[in-house]
Amino acid sequence: MAAHQERKLAEERKHQNMQNGTKASQGQWGRAWEVDWFSLASILFLLMFAPLIVYYFVMSCAQYQCSLTAPLLDLLTGNKHLSDIWNRTPMLTFQAAGIYSLWVTFQVILYMSIPDFCHKFLPGYVGGVQEGAVTPAGVVNKYEINGLQAWIITHVLWFANASFLHFFSPTIIFDNWIPLLWCANILGYAVSTFAMIKGYLFPTNAKDCKFTGNFFYDYMMGIEFNPRIGKWFDFKLFFNGRPGIVAWTLINLSFAAKQQELYGEVTNSMILVNVLQGIYVLDFFWNEAWYLKTIDICHDHFGWYLGWGDCVWLPYLYTLQGLYLVYHPVQLCTAHALGVLLLGLLGYYIFRATNHQKDLFRRTDGNCRIWGRRPEYIECSYTSVDGTKYYSKLTTSGFWGWARHFNYTGDLMGSLAYCLACGFGHILPYFYIIYMSILLIHRCLRDEHRCSSKYGKDWKRYTAAVPYRLLPGIF
Ligand code: NDP
Repeated sequence: MAAHQERKLAEERKHQNMQNGTKASQGQWGRAWEVDWFSLASILFLLMFAPLIVYYFVMSCAQYQCSLTAPLLDLLTGNKHLSDIWNRTPMLTFQAAGIYSLWVTFQVILYMSIPDFCHKFLPGYVGGVQEGAVTPAGVVNKYEINGLQAWIITHVLWFANASFLHFFSPTIIFDNWIPLLWCANILGYAVSTFAMIKGYLFPTNAKDCKFTGNFFYDYMMGIEFNPRIGKWFDFKLFFNGRPGIVAWTLINLSFAAKQQELYGEVTNSMILVNVLQGIYVLDFFWNEAWYLKTIDICHDHFGWYLGWGDCVWLPYLYTLQGLYLVYHPVQLCTAHALGVLLLGLLGYYIFRATNHQKDLFRRTDGNCRIWGRRPEYIECSYTSVDGTKYYSKLTTSGFWGWARHFNYTGDLMGSLAYCLACGFGHILPYFYIIYMSILLIHRCLRDEHRCSSKYGKDWKRYTAAVPYRLLPGIF
């Protein structure tokens, strides 16, 4: 069996590496082959606590008006027992199961059955069949990019329903928020477990599988690189984009509708959160072809981290600001609102411009202009598993000359703006900026470790030319 051979191969490679005294050699960039104790401890921590963290946040809002400390204090002082909190938590309902099944099925249909038509009439939009990056095994996958169309159809139907069809209330998501959490968890665990079994029994591409031999690490970080069902159903592209990111804007709209229902108005803070996060989501789908070149698709394997993360973590924790504003309808003064808007737009501009510069540079192989000049770059080479040598370039122009991950800096500015839109009453809406800082700093270090294994001395030349990671002169 192909997967079995690949596991044997992995063992041999591990043995060879140890003999050579190297941990990563050519053709082995990507997810680790060996698991150090720190990674294992972090993974066990996340597997045990991430679902509880999500529950804790959502429960704090439902039962404690979004106070993160009040439930803990209640428990520590004996005022309440865990069972009291649990007994007040809504359970899974048939209604929520029905809504969630319909939602996921509808997104599968949009993803699989309607080839992209947006690229035929939207100038500048890249959709339809596109190629991903070269995988460590040297494979180039094709993807049907139709996320923008799925987002538009979904939202047109949402607004049609809210305005005149009235099949369901626009508050439907908020009203079923905790029962839907159980459904999202069921899907998240089911898809991660299926991906693991599939990696062992019928991988899409056995050469792009990685087995560390550690069950928890493999479950969390994934075995298969690009698991697929059939030719086109790509797990990574579907789960990240559809149940996760298409849902993001709908969830925010549902929270806005709830504010309207409860207080008779939608606050400027809620509008800011909807608009700024809406821009971010729309940007994602407008640039879905670019997403094929990001770390999620190019380097991460598909396991619980992506599968459960896309189904549960993303829709529940990235939308905390909107949820908070349902319980605390903050009306910002004009100066505060303008400040948030400017920070959000500036962050978005930096995020988009930086990503665009890299994308343009890579697509044209450096034959382009960045800030009006021919880009400067460092030539690099790397080798895939089969020994084929590839050449690549790292640009040092534009924002990529300011810092090695200035796109993350822009992202963090935007993230901070969403949090600031909620005022200063509680810590809960600030979870997002804390989480994004940890995520992106960790990602930065992870990416640099990988690039260093991939490019070797060429990476050293690049870091010498661009010495800072996020903030020029500081970090
Ligand atoms: P990048 O888009 O920065 O991609 C990093 C890769 O780009 C590297 O591995 C390397 O790949 C290549 N690269 C690095 N430096 C250069 C250079 N100077 N010139 C050309 N290519 C270079 O990172 P991500 O994929 O992590 O992020 C993409 C965006 O998504 C970011 O803006 C980030 O903020 C956002 N993001 C948002 C998240 C969220 O949850 N909201 C989560 C994660 C990311 P190669 O091997 O091809 O050389």
